[in-house]
Amino acid sequence: MDTTNFTFTNRVALVTGGSRGIGRAAAELFANAGASVIIVSRGQEQAEQTANEIATASGQKVIAYPLDVADFEQTQALGKFVKAEFGRLDILVNNAGITRDELLMRMSEQDWDEVININLKGAWNCSKAFIRMMMKARYGRIINVTSVSGQAGQMGQTNYSAAKAGMIGLTKALAREVASRGVTVNAVAPGYIPTKLTADLPQELIDQILSATPMGRMGTPEEVAFAIAFLASEGASYITGQVIGVDGGMVMM
Ligand code: NDP
Repeated sequence: MDTTNFTFTNRVALVTGGSRGIGRAAAELFANAGASVIIVSRGQEQAEQTANEIATASGQKVIAYPLDVADFEQTQALGKFVKAEFGRLDILVNNAGITRDELLMRMSEQDWDEVININLKGAWNCSKAFIRMMMKARYGRIINVTSVSGQAGQMGQTNYSAAKAGMIGLTKALAREVASRGVTVNAVAPGYIPTKLTADLPQELIDQILSATPMGRMGTPEEVAFAIAFLASEGASYITGQVIGVDGGMVMM
């Protein structure tokens, strides 16, 4: 991946859901551009394998920290670990997410709770674990990975659309709270990106999504990672509380 446009030398970046898909692409970009990276996901084996591969390819310190972002205590422990290991965190990417699609009339309470707890509460938990550290350092970049579903709504995704719309509210409210301390909080809203998350979508739905996408194609994890990296870069220093669509033009606001 061409990272010549970005320099993250001496930066410490943490990517939740960094073991695969969009999060992995972001973790690779940060490491290739000189950052130390912490990869967080529930699955320990995949997180460690990804961390090892990225460390070998980039020559940077890349470590895996397995946890469930929905668990407040585990995220607090993560904050303490990062402080002890690196002394600070410069970049937090709240990317961990799941879907449990079903029409509301058939959706279980568990599927509602799980999607809200991982996508929305997970982003709040991780922001809370690091916000003091960033404010004290007078520097921080938080990037939340939301979705076109949170902007426009998607049938079969009342849980996911609500969680992703909630992340946009979280982004804007937190951006206001910490703007004076050198911490920016922004979001990216991807459209359709082929990853494990979207692997089981029926072809009919994929065709519908593509016909609603002016560029007429799917995006790539790397294209989302570039938007994340831009928001994390020095060049984005006067941008906060914003949502950047990475969706081939699907949602124009
Ligand atoms: P993947 O399923 O490929 O990756 C999801 C990542 O999140 C994995 O690393 C997974 O690891 C991790 N994860 C899931 N739940 C938790 C949890 N509770 N705690 C910690 N880590 C967790 O999905 P994508 O790369 O496609 O998705 C990344 C983000 O992008 C998500 O927030 C998704 O909603 C968003 N998005 C994706 C789009 C797409 O089309 N792909 C479109 C719009 C938004 P593990 O399972 O081991 O925990």
